[in-house]
Amino acid sequence: MPGLVDLHTHSTASDGLYSPGELLQHAHAAGLRVLALTDHDSTNGVEEAAQAAQALNIEFIPGIEINTDGSGGEMHVLGYFPEYQRAAFQAVLQVLRDARVRRGERMVERLNGGGVHITWERVRQIAQGAVGRPHIAQALMEAGYVQSMPEAFEKYLCTGCPAYVPRYKLTVEDAIHLIASANGLPVLAHPFTPHPADAINRVPTDSARLRGWLPRLCEVGMVGLETYYGQYTAEIVSELRTLADEYHLVPTGGSDFHGPGIHPTPLGGHAVPHESVERLRALAKARHGQAPPAFELPPPAE
Ligand code: AMP
Ligand code: ZN
Ligand code: FE
Ligand code: FE
Repeated sequence: MPGLVDLHTHSTASDGLYSPGELLQHAHAAGLRVLALTDHDSTNGVEEAAQAAQALNIEFIPGIEINTDGSGGEMHVLGYFPEYQRAAFQAVLQVLRDARVRRGERMVERLNGGGVHITWERVRQIAQGAVGRPHIAQALMEAGYVQSMPEAFEKYLCTGCPAYVPRYKLTVEDAIHLIASANGLPVLAHPFTPHPADAINRVPTDSARLRGWLPRLCEVGMVGLETYYGQYTAEIVSELRTLADEYHLVPTGGSDFHGPGIHPTPLGGHAVPHESVERLRALAKARHGQAPPAFELPPPAE
């Protein structure tokens, strides 16, 4: 049955438009039975989401998404079932969110320098949690500089655009280690380019390159590969499924829903097999309660 599981969503704890409670209401309306919340660099929406899910009889999975940068370019790592209450884990997430604030301020300065008048104060009001480029995009829309989120990225915010400022990011290996340090399950997100505007900074974009990366990622602790993602075609899904099986990775998936008008896929818009949920749950059960490997934050390169 399609549309019953969605393992990739965002709320106002990062750059989604709905609060965690509202997101669960929408999930319920869409007929979802299982939902994971995977905000960028934050688990602050997880408790509200879990409570709302319980009231609506939806199976809830805590998660996170960490955007990484490295020699190969940008990759995103999802983490499922982290023991998010761990203080050391939260301390690292706070460092990542603080770096987002400094970078956002600098992007607004650059926009102002180019004659685009939005204020950092307004961006801060829009962003209730981990601040990101979509919040700057909203301020640009409000001020009438652009009509849509994609237009804001194309004109002003894309990687390589004049106002773009990189932010402190972990390497993909470090993101995997960070998630493992909270006994979470690291999964490589949307392995193929989802945003054309960001294409210059994204890898691997084809299965030959992805195949080159997978042995290393598995070696450092990756356990899943996002396969049933957003707008991926049946061909792409089948390629990724083959790779997931070959490397004994759990094929996960979801919409990457951020609210209307941000990403094209609606909540529950890409069917994900329930078997993926069962496999994640079994791995998490084996891991939880064990002493996790420690994670040491690499020195900020700023
Ligand atoms: P940041 O984390 O601040 O670098 O912003 C990256 C986030 O912006 C991604 O995770 C997406 O949610 C969103 N994003 C990136 N490119 C686009 C685009 N072309 N259109 C809409 N949203 C985008
Ligand atoms: Zn996002
Ligand atoms: Fe992502
Ligand atoms: Fe995402």
